[in-house]
Parts: sequence; structure tokens; C-alpha cells
Amino acid sequence: MKKEYKELLNALLKRRDELVALEGHTGQKGLENLELGHGDDMDIAESVVEQEMSMTIRNRASREIILIDESIEKLHRGAYGICESCDQEIETKRLKARPFVKYCIDCQTEMEKNAEESAPGGGFQFGKLE
Ligand SMILES: [Zn+2]
Repeated sequence: MKKEYKELLNALLKRRDELVALEGHTGQKGLENLELGHGDDMDIAESVVEQEMSMTIRNRASREIILIDESIEKLHRGAYGICESCDQEIETKRLKARPFVKYCIDCQTEMEKNAEESAPGGGFQFGKLE
């Protein structure tokens, strides 16, 4: 394994620990808020908002954990740092900034461009090939 990748693996593991802690923490906080509601409308509204926020944080954390797990798995089988779209090596500089990216900068840019084009109206528009 490349030396840079070993550092990235450590960074990924550390980040993963943080996310797991965050996941557990926000989960508990949500439950506490629910139990503390005393029937006041404002309190209920606030605790619902807080719960939704913590749900969002947790969902985001869960998704990131999945991405990190995939990256760690790829590191172990030597497939890490390869773009999933064009099989080119992803720049180490890019990996250091975002260790769990799946695509090289070219493919990512291309995908974001396509996503923006299909964004108005929402969702993908099939059959819109030029
Ligand atoms: Zn690519």
C-alpha cells in the first residue's frame, strides 16, 4: 500500500469513529427531547425540529460511514484511488481533501454538470441524450 494511502486509511478510520460517536449521540439527544416535552406547543414544535435536525445529521453520518467503509474495503483490496467511472487514478491531492471520493475530478465535474442540467423540474430526465 502506498504511504499516502496508509495515512488516508488512518484519517478514514478516525473520521469513522467521530461519525459513529455523532450517530449515537444525536440519537440519544432526540429521545431525551421527546421525553422532556410537557405539552407546550412551542416545546413540541422545537423538539420536533430538533429531532428532524438530529435525524438529518444521523442520516448524513450514516451515509458517510457507508462511503468510508467502501473506501476502507477498497484500500484493503488495492482498488482504492481508482475512478469508478473511467478507471483512471484519482489524484492523491484530491483524495487527501476528500478521502472517500469515487470519481476523478473530470468524471465528477461531468456528473455535476449533468445533474445541474436535469435539476429543473427535479430528478433525472430519461431520453434526453444529445
Ligand atoms: Zn474518471
